[in-house]
This record gives sequence, C-alpha cells and structure tokens, in this order.
Amino acid sequence: MKSNNLLDTPIEYLKGVGPVRADMLKKELKIFTFNDLMGYFPFRYVDRSKFYKVNEVKTDAAWVQLKGKIKGLQKIGKPRGGRLVAYLEDDTGRLELVWFRGFQWLMNKFLPNEEYIVFGKPNLFNGKLNIPHPEVEAVSETQIHLGDKLQPFYYSTEKLKSKGLDSRGISKIMKTLLLQVQGIIPETLSEEMRKELKLIPREDAILNIHFPKNPEILKRAESRLKFEELFFIQLNLLKLKLIRMEKIQGNLFSVVGNYLNDFYKNCLPFELTGAQKRVIKEIRVDMGSGHQMNRLLQGDVGSGKTLVALMCMLIALDNGYQASLMAPTEILAQQHFKSISKMLEGMDIQVALLTGSTKAKQRTALHDLLQSGHIHILIGTHALIEDTVKYKNLGLVIIDEQHRFGVAQRAKLWKKNITPPHILVMTATPIPRTLAMTFYGDLEVSVIDELPPGRKSIKTVHFYDKDRLRLFGFMQRQIAEGRQVYMVYPLIKESEKLDLKHLEDGFESVSRAFPLPKYAVSMVHGQLKSAEKDYEMQRFIKGETQIMVATTVIEVGVDVPNASVMVIENAERFGLSQLHQLRGRVGRGGDQSYCILMTKDKLNPEAYKRIKTMVKTSDGFEIAETDLKLRGPGDLHGTQQSGILDLKIADIVKDEKILKYAREKAIELLNDDPHLEKETNSPILKELNKLTRNRPNWSLIS
Ligand code: ADP
Ligand code: MG
Repeated sequence: MKSNNLLDTPIEYLKGVGPVRADMLKKELKIFTFNDLMGYFPFRYVDRSKFYKVNEVKTDAAWVQLKGKIKGLQKIGKPRGGRLVAYLEDDTGRLELVWFRGFQWLMNKFLPNEEYIVFGKPNLFNGKLNIPHPEVEAVSETQIHLGDKLQPFYYSTEKLKSKGLDSRGISKIMKTLLLQVQGIIPETLSEEMRKELKLIPREDAILNIHFPKNPEILKRAESRLKFEELFFIQLNLLKLKLIRMEKIQGNLFSVVGNYLNDFYKNCLPFELTGAQKRVIKEIRVDMGSGHQMNRLLQGDVGSGKTLVALMCMLIALDNGYQASLMAPTEILAQQHFKSISKMLEGMDIQVALLTGSTKAKQRTALHDLLQSGHIHILIGTHALIEDTVKYKNLGLVIIDEQHRFGVAQRAKLWKKNITPPHILVMTATPIPRTLAMTFYGDLEVSVIDELPPGRKSIKTVHFYDKDRLRLFGFMQRQIAEGRQVYMVYPLIKESEKLDLKHLEDGFESVSRAFPLPKYAVSMVHGQLKSAEKDYEMQRFIKGETQIMVATTVIEVGVDVPNASVMVIENAERFGLSQLHQLRGRVGRGGDQSYCILMTKDKLNPEAYKRIKTMVKTSDGFEIAETDLKLRGPGDLHGTQQSGILDLKIADIVKDEKILKYAREKAIELLNDDPHLEKETNSPILKELNKLTRNRPNWSLIS
C-alpha cells in the first residue's frame, strides 16, 4: 500500500534522479523531498496539439511546433566554436535551425528522408527568423503523447541543464513522481470548504497543474492552488494574532497622565491634524485594552508620524513604562533623537540615543541607566533590540521603518519582556493594500490620510541631462531667494567604489558651478564616519551650505524645512517608492518646493512610466500601487528576505480578488473554530502545522 510518508522521501530515491541530480536539485531549487518536487509548478504551458507551417511562422513571439524534413546540415565558422545550421523544410518553405553546441551528436542524428517534429522559440537574427536549439524528434519515435496537449515548462538553471534537468528533464521526473504518488496526495482543505468554494480536490489540482488534461481543468487547478496558497498564509497570520490575543497579556496603559497633558498644553508646536488625533485615539484605546498591541501606522511622507509616535510614547511613560523608537538608519535615529529631545525641552524626561557607533563605554553606562529605569525613551537603530539591551520595563516599541520589519523580527520583541511591549510599526511610505494584507496581515491598521495644513504641493518636473544648464540656472535663482537644494545620486550596491566616484564627480561639477566663497556645497554618503556625516548634515541644517550632494542616506526622515529643491540624478535608476521618499524631503516649509528628476535621454518604458507617475501624482498610496504593478511583489524592497512572499503560484497583484477572498474565508473559519478542533477541519490543521514547521518565519510563538 502506498503511504502518505512516501511524500517525505528524499528526492534522490526517485527513479531517474540519484545522488548527483538530487544534490543539484537541492542546491538550485531547494527541492529535498518528493513533496518539494511535487510543489515545483510549471511557469508556462505550450499547446503541442497545434502544428505550424513554415510560412505561418512570422514572429518571435510564441513557441512553435512544425513538421518536416531536415536538410542542408552544415557546420559554419571556426572548427571549434562556430555553429551548426540546418533547414526544416515542409511544403510551404524552409526555416533555419541553429545549434551552438553538441555538433558531433547532432551531425549523426538526422536522417535525410525521415519526418521530424521540431519545436522551439523563433529568434530574429539579422532580420531573419531562425530557431535556436530546437527540440527535434522523429515522427516515428515521438514521445509526445497526443493526450498531453499542454506541455508544461519548468524553470531550470544552467547547472541543472548540464545534468540533463532542463524543462523537459524535469517534466520527465515529474511524471515518474506523479505516477508513484497518485492516490495519496493529501487534501488540505475541508470537504465543506471545497464544496462551498467549488474547488477541485487537491490531487486533481496537482496532477493537472503539471500535466493538464485540457485548458479548462488547468484553470481550475490554478484557482484551487492559488486559493490554497493564499489561504494558508492568511490563516497563519490570523492564527498568530489569535494566539497573541489569548495567550499574551499586554501592558495595560490605563491612564492618560501628566506627561501627555503637559506636552499637549505646553509643548505642542502646532494643532494636530484630524487624522493624527484619530490614530492617536485608536492607539490609545488599543494600549488600554489589556491586550498586546500590534499595529501598523500607515501615512504618507510628511504626514506627521513622528509626532504621533512621540505622543504614544508619552502615554507609555504616563503609565510608568519605558518606550523606544527604532529607526532604519543612523542618520535618521540621530534626527529623531534631536527633534524629540527638542520637543520635550523643559519636561522631566530622559531621552537617550543608542546606535551601532555608540562607544562601548557610553553603551555600558547607557545599559545601566536603562535597567534602572532612569532613561525613559531610548531612540536608536537595530542596536536597541539586541539581546544585550535590557530595560527596566519596556512598554512600547515603535519601529520607524524603511526595510520591511517582518513577523520574525517582531517576534523577537515579543520575547523582550515577560509581558511583551506594545508594538507600533510605522511605514516610511504607504504600502499597497495587498502587500499590507500579506505582510502585515496579523496587525491592526491605522492610517493617517491627511497632510498638515498649509503644505504647498511640490512641483515635479522631468529634465534630461542635456538640460543641465537650465537646472543650474534654476538652482541659482532658488539659492538667491535663500532656499537650499538637495542633489541625490543613486546607489548601486554591486559597486560601491563606482557609486562613490559618481557622487564625487557630481560634487566636483556642482562645486565648480557653485564656487566658494559665494556658495558652499556639502557632501554626505554612507562611507563617511558618523561624526563626519553629522558635521556635514549640521552645516546644511544650519544653512551654512546651500547645496547638499548625497546618496540615498538622506532618503528617510531628514527634515530641513528651508530646503525647497530636490534634484534626483539618474532618476531612472530609482524605484518609485524611493523617488517618492526623496521628494518628501522637500515641501516641508512654507515655500513652493520643486522636485527635478534628471534622466538620460533614452529611457526604457518602465523607467519612463515611473518618471511620468512621479510628475503626475503626489499621492503616496497611488504611487505604491503603481510601483507594485510595475515591479511585481518579488522585487519590492526588503520583501525577498521575508520568505512570506515566496509565492509558488499566486501573485498578489494579479490575484488580489483571491487574496481578499482567502482572507475572508480564513477569518470565517477561525471565528467558527478558533483552534481548528473540529474533525472536519483536521486536514487544515495538519497542513498549517506542516507549513509552520517547514517555514521558520511562519512559526513564531513557542
Ligand atoms: P513623516 O510622517 O514623514 O515621518 P514627520 O513626522 O517627519 O513626517 O513630519 C513632517 C513635518 O510635518 C515635520 O516637520 C513636522 O514637524 C510637521 N508636522 C507634523 N504634524 C504637524 C501638524 N499637525 N501641523 C503642522 N506640521 C506638522
Ligand atoms: Mg518619518
């Protein structure tokens, strides 16, 4: 009898795999077991029931299958290297086939009067179509089953191909596997749910996703598997939330006391916006509920999240707790430290700064003060959640983030105290709804959907490099009016040296165009020591320099109201949310502000779309949606490492509807059976446990 454990069999034991290929499969595709291979889905299908005639092959857009004789085989070019060409002839004409390796074998393969089936993707070369490296099979020996109309295509890598595991090779071992496991592929959803949602059984879905019997069943297989994938992500997130609500006590912030009241009466530099008031209230209620708060605060650049953060920290203090604020970069941590210390001037509150560059001696002193409770608010970078940092009673952690701060990192904080602190994650830029649902699906959400009054909208224009003189003229006029200018250069990680050179060249040419003593130019980049960075930033903040040449180290949070011009060099190289962040550095004072996007002359369509989007809108939510659509979720900043978004089949952009539906269903299920104890839900519980076992990021509360 076949047993369920068969699916856990190491992949080397599959017929046709063996130790060498198994090794490669593990390394290249993380396929360790039968089950893993089964979950390696094709990315595309090609209809092998259709045969083209040579004269019907007119573009290089689609894969084609032809039938005919192979003529005129000859080697061209150098004895070693070069290429082998031949022609496929049918009654409508002939089409060139070309190979760049495997000559010897190919020379002997083809018989002159035999009929062959040729399959491949046409390529346009020197104005003519040919087919490079086609699959060729004699009609008499063909392995193509006429039943397999849709042939699956699997991603492969050079290394796998060298071991015979190209798409075709993978499809062969897949077939072997499926024949072996057919009949024991477990169902993961309850019968009720499947019926209600009209989803096909998992086994049918798996068999047909690999070898679809027809296009209709392929569609149903896809829907079933997409739903399942998104459903379990949502279920996991919601279950985490449930466990937290049930098991984890929260610090009860029951009072609104003197700190907040004093601050509100005496220190608040301006009237809060309606949105700020609303979210502070949401947060206050949450922290006063007895549960641990896990909340996401979304707000566009400049919407005043820092002030909200500060007021929430004061609530913690009022209840006798400490609070900390974590920033993604050192510069930003320093800025927060300065601006918050300033806002709290005159109040009896101790604020401290802890970053990677805090000296050991200071650090020790700081640790003591934290543990004794003499420090009320700690501001810093990732350093402040290191295990060595111990608090007297940390009540609230606020994460002002740039990188996605995933569930795993949040979980680390849950362990920070016997009763874990409340957590508020603030986004640097808005996140699209689907991404928020997937990535922060376990959090409550607050949104600041209003900018402080009196903000003038920023004028955004697109200049080409050839407009540089105009740019400099414009900068001169702005500086003459007392304004300051940022010029930002892109950072490409692969080559920091080259980046620095770009920046330094830029600095030089700007310094030539804006010479001393009339002008002064600052430069800041990531390789400067923190004291040097700080010195340069301070000169700019104080207005001693008029132009700040920088890399994206200034991307987040830097706040100089007098700076009214943001020039972004090589803007085509930046992602949309980054451009939006950078633009948000200006428009903070009362003056009309400008963002100038400098690009090279020729832009690819995607870059063009990004630039156009920036010129057209300043709505961060709209920009985030466009960004997600243009780039796809896999590319978004910081999401790769998360593990959560390695989706096998679903796509959170294209499958937004399924995602919402999956979330609804997960909520419904947990409302009805919070611990998944009902017999009918046992397949769901089993699958969830398996997933959390196999994906460390998923299982967070021990
Ligand atoms: P972000 O949400 O991007 O972090 P900040 O908190 O840095 O925004 O706030 C941007 C600017 O707006 C700061 O200069 C801040 O002092 C100012 N600001 C915040 N709230 C208000 C308000 N209610 N009225 C006027 N200005 C405000
Ligand atoms: Mg901010």
